[in-house]
Amino acid sequence: MTTPQFPLQDQLCGFSRALFSTWLYHRRFNILFDAGEGVATSLCNRVFGIRRIFLSHGHADHIAGLVNLLNIRNLGAGDQTASLKIYIPKNNKLIEFMMDYLARTQKALSFELEWIPIDADEDVMLDDQRNKVFLRTFKTKHSQRQLSLGYNIIEKRRRLKPEYEALSQREINQIVWTKGKEEIATEYEKIIFSYGGDSRPINPDLVRESLFLCHESTYMSSDDDERNFQQHSILDEVLEMAKQANVETLLLFHTSLRYNLDELREKINAAKARIEPGCQVLVLCANNIIDTANEGSWRKKMRKDSLKEQSLDGNSF
Ligand SMILES: [Zn+2]
Repeated sequence: MTTPQFPLQDQLCGFSRALFSTWLYHRRFNILFDAGEGVATSLCNRVFGIRRIFLSHGHADHIAGLVNLLNIRNLGAGDQTASLKIYIPKNNKLIEFMMDYLARTQKALSFELEWIPIDADEDVMLDDQRNKVFLRTFKTKHSQRQLSLGYNIIEKRRRLKPEYEALSQREINQIVWTKGKEEIATEYEKIIFSYGGDSRPINPDLVRESLFLCHESTYMSSDDDERNFQQHSILDEVLEMAKQANVETLLLFHTSLRYNLDELREKINAAKARIEPGCQVLVLCANNIIDTANEGSWRKKMRKDSLKEQSLDGNSF
């Protein structure tokens, strides 16, 4: 299996547990996807580096961390003047209530804060990326009553036109010299990162050949959706979808607390063997990114959890 060249998972940090909290910070682009409870507490002074926040929808486990995050950005020891843009799915009442609360309680912000409502199929330019990278929204299937969005980070790349592929470097240079660079190369869009939020399986066409797809996988089996919400995804569906979309790396997140690590490992490995998704599969468990093909990666997380349990048993905080 080839290791992904970009973006590497070490550029990401986050936390995800279904119903409790979800957020994912992409360090290279200074973008925070969703803002569940605990995001500021985890990131500490790195919150000052966040330039944009993209919210997938307005459920509490994806927006509750905004209150503390804005407060820390306003009062903490960092660059209190760095501007912040928060992109929100349009006409979202739940997020609007949060905006109202924040407007009433954070009257004098030290930095420029902009709330930007967005719709599906919109492009957002990232001005700090010299117009080579932008973000495109897509609609996801989650709640009936509110718009929910997923996000693709797209890089504009250039490749040789097919008719020139067989030429030698010398011949290519000759054409560039006589006719210019535009003659031989054509621009195309490459999805380098995709974030789905909470959703039923994403349409593979929307994230085709993404280098790094973050897809929720709340349930490991369809029987586990006891209340039949049908608002979330099941592991097999997600692996099938990633296979169809031909993604390079899949990061599962938003897994339900009902599964312990042993169960997650067993079910994910079994499903991978059955479906053969053809991509690297990672899983974000609480704040750890586990490479599911690497036994050591699972064991490291298990050791961490058992140490935490011991300290809780002994009340030694
Ligand atoms: Zn939700």
